[in-house]
Amino acid sequence: MANASRHDLVVIGAGPGGYVAAIRAAQLGLNVACVEKEAALGGTCLRIGCIPSKALLDSSELFEKAKDGLDAHGVKVSGVELDLVSMMRRKDKVVKGLTAGVASLFKKNGVTHVRGAARLVAPGTVSVVGADEGTLSAKHVLIATGSEPAPLPGVEFDGRFIVSSEEALAFAEVPRTLLVVGAGAIGLELGSVWARLGSKVKVVEFMDRIVPLMDKELGAALKKILEKQGLSFQLSTIAKSASVAGSEVRVTFEAAGKTSTESFDKVLVAIGRRPYTMGLGLEDVGLTPDAKGRIDVDEHFATSVAGIYAIGDVIRGPMLAHKAEEEGVACVETLAGLAGHVNYEAVPNVVYTWPELASVGRTEEECSEQKREVRIGKFPFFANGRARAMEERDGLVKIIADAKSDRLLGVHILGPRASDLIAEAALAMEFGSSAEDLARTCHAHPTLPEAVKEAALAVAGRSIHI
Ligand code: FAD
Repeated sequence: MANASRHDLVVIGAGPGGYVAAIRAAQLGLNVACVEKEAALGGTCLRIGCIPSKALLDSSELFEKAKDGLDAHGVKVSGVELDLVSMMRRKDKVVKGLTAGVASLFKKNGVTHVRGAARLVAPGTVSVVGADEGTLSAKHVLIATGSEPAPLPGVEFDGRFIVSSEEALAFAEVPRTLLVVGAGAIGLELGSVWARLGSKVKVVEFMDRIVPLMDKELGAALKKILEKQGLSFQLSTIAKSASVAGSEVRVTFEAAGKTSTESFDKVLVAIGRRPYTMGLGLEDVGLTPDAKGRIDVDEHFATSVAGIYAIGDVIRGPMLAHKAEEEGVACVETLAGLAGHVNYEAVPNVVYTWPELASVGRTEEECSEQKREVRIGKFPFFANGRARAMEERDGLVKIIADAKSDRLLGVHILGPRASDLIAEAALAMEFGSSAEDLARTCHAHPTLPEAVKEAALAVAGRSIHI
């Protein structure tokens, strides 16, 4: 890389926020460089997050189904064995294919990939240390440096016994016992993977419910289902301290003023993530992160320093790959003179357990806190023909609509492939649909989305199939 190469836009970080922003900006005719400190492109999501976790969820789901999930279909399978090495190899191959794909997309779109760690030297000037050492100058700089696992004081990561999601995606053997601290999406997904592969999994959560940001009713239903799958839960409990003795971790819990201790082979701390800005030189350009480490931005993702923007996990809002992508696109479209915008009301959120839990918009609790008058329609999957054919009876669709206007306020789905089903709801919310719009849309039969239509009909008290 030539020293002081000049660009319209320098993006720092090639996660889903950064790489998508870089590609969109290049499509719009900007001269773009994207700096990434890791060897592979794709960020947390592709390397150590969304993609490898879903690869293991899919593999472990198949393992479990082959082991004891096919009898009802009249399929007898015997001699099912786990080959963890192959399962991990497949996961790594999926990751490799997709991260290499980002490199090809950069080439195709003319984005300059700069290998190294970036540091802000001054507005418009970025120094890079690494394979492509040098200085970049740019009209605009976009920070997309993402996040890292939040540490838990007293239960410190050691990378071997007390681990973050990164190591829990690559255990060399199935732990006999696994403690998951934190009942959010990451904890429940990885807890499910290892429970399916044979671990005895216990989940402790500081709040009095699992997936605290999701609809309470559906979260409680998911907990019951996961308990049937063998996960155990201890809510309103704090993991206070942990120490490694031999090949075990001894963990002290505190619940309702009482302490107890228990030992585990591995402990996964999944209490959330925090913005990552280490070594970025924010202070050198006059940027101070807020108390949670986030970079403050306005509605166009501009920071308080002219020419510097930020998106994704490093700013406010849910830490989700698709939210980062949308922000990246909106930010660079604004820079190119278009009307970039993100509708935060219609950002879906998914927990990829089985069944999956997906939601978009407001929960019933949020509506009641906001004193909104609502009408709610529900439809259970046991009454859906396709779900019955699939032998998937658990879960329901819950639709919340404004009582007067009938406009959709939130859609919550616990059920098979809820991650796919929520797309229809997100689209409907984006278009400002009413529950009646959804209810009057012709849905193919027999399909899982018919459960969404039926829940929309239920808002007006006129479900057909229940
Ligand atoms: P990141 O993906 O974190 O990318 C930031 C990039 O910046 C990294 O590649 C980093 O190396 C680079 N970087 C940082 N500092 C510098 C520097 N100074 N110089 C150069 N490069 C730098 N989200 C979902 O939506 N769906 C899911 O199913 C999902 N599953 C997840 C599962 C797990 C186990 C984890 C950990 C996360 C999951 N997430 C999921 C969250 C998702 O991964 C993040 O929200 C998303 O990656 C954020 O994108 P980003 O571009 O903001 O940051």
